[in-house]
Amino acid sequence: MTYLRKNIAEMAGYVPGFQPENEAEWIKLNTNENPYPPSPKVREAILAELGSDGGNLRKYPDAASREFRRVAAELYGFDADWVISANGSDELLNNLIRACAGEGEEIAYVHPSYSYYATLAAIQGAKVKTFGLTEAGRIADFPARYPGKIFFLTSPNAPLGIAFDKAYIRELAGRCAGILVVDEAYADFAEENALELVRECRNVVVTRTLSKSYSLAGMRLGLAVARPEMIAALDKIRDHYHLDRLALVAASAALRDQNYLREMVAKICSTRGRFAAVLESLGYQVLDSCANYVFAAPPDRDGKRVYEALFQRRILVRHFSDPLLAHGLRISIGTDEEMDQALAALREIG
Ligand SMILES: *Cc1c(COP(=O)(O)O)cnc(C)c1O
Repeated sequence: MTYLRKNIAEMAGYVPGFQPENEAEWIKLNTNENPYPPSPKVREAILAELGSDGGNLRKYPDAASREFRRVAAELYGFDADWVISANGSDELLNNLIRACAGEGEEIAYVHPSYSYYATLAAIQGAKVKTFGLTEAGRIADFPARYPGKIFFLTSPNAPLGIAFDKAYIRELAGRCAGILVVDEAYADFAEENALELVRECRNVVVTRTLSKSYSLAGMRLGLAVARPEMIAALDKIRDHYHLDRLALVAASAALRDQNYLREMVAKICSTRGRFAAVLESLGYQVLDSCANYVFAAPPDRDGKRVYEALFQRRILVRHFSDPLLAHGLRISIGTDEEMDQALAALREIG
């Protein structure tokens, strides 16, 4: 006898990457956090909002996130009614499923990619289909007409780091009867993105997060760009005060400081190139990455062995037990010093 809906009772919860309590003792390369602090403008904006006595916190935040949306819309070249803010892009992924996929209806995503889509679908009682990837980085057996309600395309792909080009995403959009959600959590680290397709194709939605490139994982900030009809639907179903006052001012300040973003992204991409080259010289197979992590397999293709040996040295990386991924590791790009320490440990481990 249970009080729960059947699908909730039966579903498993999502397991996020391990967050150790004594963080300072670890080199943390397992959840794709940015190793650098956010723009100094973020701290200034938060302190200004807080004021000397925190008095502003008495008042509810702007339920419509008007400033954040305006800044984001201007940055990406859309009208403000094409943009919605979110409590992390995870909130948007959830609300897109709530808005578009009813009980028993189907959503799909690429396997391997972000498995949280499946958890969110389970909450709605929606069915899940997965598509594999070909060697050439295409979706395997994608039908001429995919009839499901949503197809989630993580681009750049997590955990592999490969990105899909715009022409191919356009083609996929044309083959989807429902919406194509391009989860661009890592797009700031890539050369290309699908924003233009939101204007071009009726069914494309792009989601972004400030957690990775903007170093704001701790503030929980995301956004989506979509047609005004879709934005209006997402607005109807979200919590009305979903972003707090400090998060809102942090978001606008971070988006406004594009010079800082470009500088940090360039630094991380240059560390990524150097790290990947040394890993390859150690015999690792490293996939070309368009994100702030690399997926790499040791010469003996035993990802778990290397994960455990690194763990003993207090270096955290991500290992997935999934048979498609178990041979490798997803290693987030930290500072140059952190990556040097990781390389020294990997040399020792062999
Ligand atoms: C990190 C990540 C997210 C979640 O971002 P938040 O804004 O922190 O919720 C979504 N999708 C992918 C693929 C991610 O890696």
